[in-house]
Amino acid sequence: MQTSRPSTPSAARVPHVLDRYSDKRGGESWLAGVTDDPDTRYLPIVSGRDRRAGAVPTDGARLRWLTRDGVASLAPRGAQEIYLGRLHDDAASPVAGRHLVAVVVDEPAEEQAEAWQGMRALAPVLDAAEAEILITATAIVNWHAGHTHCPRCGAATDVVHSGWVRVCREDGSQHFPRTDPAVIVSIIDGDDRLLLGANARWGGQRYSTLAGFVEPGESLEAAVVREVGEEAGIQVHSPEYVASQPWPFPASLMLAFRARADAVDVVPDGEEIVDLRWFTRRELAEDIRSGRIAAPMAFSVARRLIELWYGGTLPEPRQPENLTA
Ligand SMILES: [Zn+2]
Repeated sequence: MQTSRPSTPSAARVPHVLDRYSDKRGGESWLAGVTDDPDTRYLPIVSGRDRRAGAVPTDGARLRWLTRDGVASLAPRGAQEIYLGRLHDDAASPVAGRHLVAVVVDEPAEEQAEAWQGMRALAPVLDAAEAEILITATAIVNWHAGHTHCPRCGAATDVVHSGWVRVCREDGSQHFPRTDPAVIVSIIDGDDRLLLGANARWGGQRYSTLAGFVEPGESLEAAVVREVGEEAGIQVHSPEYVASQPWPFPASLMLAFRARADAVDVVPDGEEIVDLRWFTRRELAEDIRSGRIAAPMAFSVARRLIELWYGGTLPEPRQPENLTA
């Protein structure tokens, strides 16, 4: 069944701005060379599992980059350093053209501790370049925190390749940071309506596209069909890839799809999804304006999927104070 599609914003609007030097950072002296360069800038980032994990110093809507001396006052000697990459020369950033290094610290610096924020708080305000950097730093620091020992023999591992590989001291096996694929899908029916669900974790007011992790041995397309079947009780077809977004909680790569549904009798699973609704464009706009529902955050791939269907930017609520984040 074919329905007309509105003119749409570009799906691939996030450029790749960070050169990771993945062909060079494995060299033994790469990180030492970078840290000898006085132009290199450093981002302290809190390791661990508590609520401050992943926090970095900020100046308003920007990351606060430190010099070698600046970071030395915050991090103990021998603190783990991870090469992040180099921002392109023409990036609109005060650290454009510089090599960037994350430095793992135990907690935010006492003074200005309130200016340390994590990706969840910063995602709506950071520009694309700094978002890519912080997602990268958060994901790899999370991975290090959870993978200190060899999964084969349990021995301790050492960090090599400028922070991108861990090697077992006993059996020499190498361990690489992982990324877990998840699918997120906009479902469109024969009347060109969009299906959105309210997730229990969001307090039941925010409506978004359905999502779930890909299982071992499963194609992305099969994961789309299975997840929608589980969460909404309907069979979708014709999944089409749209765009992707990395998200470091815990180590996700969100792969966004569009799919079609012929049946419209949806049944929320009642656990993850507490309500499901088919929206026309007008209904969605009115419900967002009135504050009856909230849309996904502006930077999210879920929002992009919805706006792709909607045909432009979603309206703002008239009474934002009524909405919970
Ligand atoms: Zn081992």
